[in-house]
Amino acid sequence: MSREPEHLQRLRARMVERQIMRRGITNRRVLDAMTRVPRHEFLPGHPAEDAYEDGAVAIGHGQTCSQPYVVAYMTNWCDPRPSERALELGTGSGYQAAVLAEICAEVITIERVAALAESARKRLGRLGYHNITVLCRDGYEGYPVAAPYDIILLTAAAPDIPPPLLGQLNDSGRLVAPVGPGPQRVTRYTKQYGSIHRENGLDVRFVPFVSEHFDNDVS
Ligand code: SAH
Repeated sequence: MSREPEHLQRLRARMVERQIMRRGITNRRVLDAMTRVPRHEFLPGHPAEDAYEDGAVAIGHGQTCSQPYVVAYMTNWCDPRPSERALELGTGSGYQAAVLAEICAEVITIERVAALAESARKRLGRLGYHNITVLCRDGYEGYPVAAPYDIILLTAAAPDIPPPLLGQLNDSGRLVAPVGPGPQRVTRYTKQYGSIHRENGLDVRFVPFVSEHFDNDVS
């Protein structure tokens, strides 16, 4: 990657300090990953500075790249470690996948909109993220051939967790997702000795997880 302008590095450092650390996220791995990933590269068509504002950004096709704090919060709840493998549903721009890939050994990410999957694949390749695989399909069934995963992260809101996903979670694995058709809440499912422990976190607003299995696929 060519060297990026210094003022963007400064804006990103400020984003991490003011939007993420000040709101209580202390996990070094998450803070370092958010400091490294050049968020402006993921948001074409917007002034580079907008990437470091405290909000979600439109990425076309009616979809959004989440607010930096929400990305940090979701990543922190996944508690990613260097040796781990992650599955993301909802690639969008590829930004969240890149944040996970800064920490984990491998990331597989699935996107249902072909144009988004294609541009994310190109972007991630250009930026040198060789540990990310982008697949284009409905992510409802997960990706069983590469299972189990230590982390499964949904970045679109599902009314319920697709049952196949829980089956692809490793023991001690974490599945983090915004759940709910109306008010949504970040929910974490942790697998321990075969049983699932559920915790509720932040209230959020994500675009819907669209699937023929949920009967909300109008395409
Ligand atoms: N993580 C993204 C933002 C996600 S926006 C980023 O960092 O930019 C949510 C994305 O989920 C959208 O791109 C949408 O097309 C995708 N999506 C919705 N339903 C899906 C499904 N069933 N399978 C895969 N992707 C889905």
